[in-house]
Amino acid sequence: MADITLDRLAKVYPGGVRALNDLGLTVKDGEFFALLGPSGCGKSTLLRTIAGLEAASGGTIRIGDRDVTALQPGERDIAMVFQDYALFPHMTVNENIAYPLKIKKVGKAERARKAQETAEELGLGHLAERRPGQLSGGQQQRAALARAMACHPKVFLFDEPLSNLDARMRLEARTFLKKLQRELGVTTVFVTHDQAEALAMADRIAVMEGGELRQVGTPTEVFRRP
Ligand code: ADP
Ligand code: ADP
Repeated sequence: MADITLDRLAKVYPGGVRALNDLGLTVKDGEFFALLGPSGCGKSTLLRTIAGLEAASGGTIRIGDRDVTALQPGERDIAMVFQDYALFPHMTVNENIAYPLKIKKVGKAERARKAQETAEELGLGHLAERRPGQLSGGQQQRAALARAMACHPKVFLFDEPLSNLDARMRLEARTFLKKLQRELGVTTVFVTHDQAEALAMADRIAVMEGGELRQVGTPTEVFRRP
C-alpha cells in the first residue's frame, strides 16, 4: 500500500513566505490525484516537499506506513517528472533512464537491460542512443517518464509534465499517461493549472489557493455547478 498522508504540512521559505499552510490530505493507493490552482498557490512547493527537494517546516508526510518527513529524496520511493523534463543533456536516452538505477547501486548489466526494456515499453527503443537535444518534445517527455518508471517507485509526482507540448501532442500524452498510470497502478500526484486536463485525467482533484486546499473531490464534485 502506498497511500500518501499529509498531516499539518507546512512550508515557510526563508524570508517568510508561507507557501503551505498546515495541509492535511490523503491520496489513496493507486489513485491519480490532480492538484489544480493558479500560479503561486503552492502546487510546486507541495510536490517538491513530498519529494524531499524542500524540507518541511512543520507537519508530517507518510508514504504507506513509513514516515518519510525527514528522509532524503532517494530514500522515499518516489519518482518526479518536471515540467522541463530535466534530462541530462550529455547522456543518451538509455543513460538517462539508467541513472536512478545507478544511484540505487543496481549493477551495470542489469541497468542496461532495464533501461532498454523501459525505453521499448514507451516506444523509445529506436532512440536509445540519442541525446535529449535530438528528440522532439513528446519524445523527451516520454524519456523523462521512462526514467521515472525504471526504478519502480511507489509514487509518481508530476509537475505540469504536459505543458511544454503542443496542443495535439498534449492530448495524445494525456491518454498515454493516464493509460500507463492505470496499468502500473502507481499512486500519482499531478500538478496542473489546466482545468480540462485535471478533469480528463484525475480520479480526484484538489483545488489549491494561497497554500491551502479549498476543495477536494472527484471531478464531478469539484466542477458541479452550484
Ligand atoms: P505554484 O507552483 O502554484 O505556482 P509555488 O509553490 O511555486 O506555486 O509558490 C508558492 C509561493 O511560494 C509563492 O508565493 C512563491 O513566490 C513562493 N516561493 C516559491 N519558491 C520559493 C523560494 N525558493 N523562495 C521563496 N519563496 C518561494
Ligand atoms: P514532433 O513532430 O513530435 O514535433 P520533431 O519535428 O521535433 O517532432 O521531430 C521529428 C523527428 O525528427 C523525430 O523522430 C525526432 O526524433 C527527429 N529529430 C528532431 N530533432 C532532431 C535532431 N536534432 N537530430 C536528430 N533527429 C531529430
